Amino acid sequence: MKRNRSDKGRKLILPRKRTRKMGSKQKLLLLNPPAKKPVFRDCYCSGRFKGRLLIHPLDLQIQSGFLSEDGFELDFVDAVFEQIHPDQTIERIRSFDPDVILSLVGEAVLDEDAAFFRQIKLSLPSARLFLSGDAARFRPERLLQRIPEAEGLLTDFGTAGLSDHLNGRVSPHLRVRGADASSSFPKSFAYPLPWKGFVRKYPYQLPFFPDPKYHSIAASFGCPYHCRYCNTHLLGYRNRDIGEFVEELEFAASHGFRSLYVRDATFMADKARTLCLFDEWRQMGCRFHWICFTRPDLIDEELAARASELGCVLMMMGVESFDETWLGEMGRHLHTDTMKNAFRLLRKHRIRSAAQIMIGMESRGSDLHIYEARLRSFLKEIDPDFISLNLFFRRPGIMDESPSFRRIESDEALYREMGERISRSFYFHPRSLLRQTYLLKSPKQLVLSLKAAVGMINLTR
Ligand code: SF4
Repeated sequence: MKRNRSDKGRKLILPRKRTRKMGSKQKLLLLNPPAKKPVFRDCYCSGRFKGRLLIHPLDLQIQSGFLSEDGFELDFVDAVFEQIHPDQTIERIRSFDPDVILSLVGEAVLDEDAAFFRQIKLSLPSARLFLSGDAARFRPERLLQRIPEAEGLLTDFGTAGLSDHLNGRVSPHLRVRGADASSSFPKSFAYPLPWKGFVRKYPYQLPFFPDPKYHSIAASFGCPYHCRYCNTHLLGYRNRDIGEFVEELEFAASHGFRSLYVRDATFMADKARTLCLFDEWRQMGCRFHWICFTRPDLIDEELAARASELGCVLMMMGVESFDETWLGEMGRHLHTDTMKNAFRLLRKHRIRSAAQIMIGMESRGSDLHIYEARLRSFLKEIDPDFISLNLFFRRPGIMDESPSFRRIESDEALYREMGERISRSFYFHPRSLLRQTYLLKSPKQLVLSLKAAVGMINLTR
């Protein structure tokens, strides 16, 4: 095998010959590929992680349930969690010697991912490569051209599309190279319990829980709202059966988890359903500390009280902007009073709050100093425990235009500096430091919190 220029200085890895016995199980590797910096590529979103707040790749977790149920022999490598180099990752893959690889791919790191998939194909030419991620869902044609090594794309990770395809069944949720494109929205969000090997393999931790090791779980897929800057609503919206959700809670408890991250894009979107879910959760009897993402306009006294009784320790809420006109233009009709009330209710019920802000978003661009002063004053009013300032990024699938998007893109460096300045003064303010210290319950939490605070200051897209 000849070395090309890009192989210079890299260890030569010869392709492996396949010697699988007839009749043996197909071996399938679930892969989160390596990256120079910590990245996420799941739930049809990709970007840089803030600090080392690492999260389970939910697409792969859900797929692990379908695939283990259908009899595949599985392994899982999360090269981002392990912080391993591409060559080490290839070695790990070769030691399992899979027939099939299901890998995440991310629009935000597509060049890096494409280079790694070339490396995989050189080392394991007979392994069949399938991809899942934002680029696979929203730009499938482009991705198939960009990654010629991929045989197909899983376009809905909440379905058995890949397993069906590998078992010879046609699926509208698996886009096969060269085949006619067909897709449809599934009616329900039903997935089996994850493969035990997946949930046991890596100790993902977050600093928000007294016991930082946590399990990821979902009660719905997609989002019923239609914010113009976000692509999640393009997935449609479907709920998971409450009984199946509770069964997974029992599964998590039986594997020793006492902390949960509810991974819905907008948890509690339907109040009546949420209260039923809370009832069944309470009757099930296992106690968890848990966190979720939601919208400020969904929080009321009853939901906040019930969530708190059930162990909720943090709600992360998309605030995005203090400018009601801009929010209205984006199809996100939220009043600032509603936001202030949501943060007040969470404080009252002893649930910590995190405000997600898209830096620079207002209807008419004002002088940057004026914008910064208004944002600082708004943050003081809502008084969150955490803030996460983000730069606008055109997520795949978003076709909308707005002067506010172009403004951020043309002055990205200035907005980035502003966001980092605001985050620094927020997290290093004595009030914030005191509050964070008071909330810490274990030394593990302290270490993770310090790392998280440093990470929060770096603005990501
Ligand atoms: S509510 Fe959140 S997840 Fe849903 S469309 Fe709006 S920004 Fe996206």
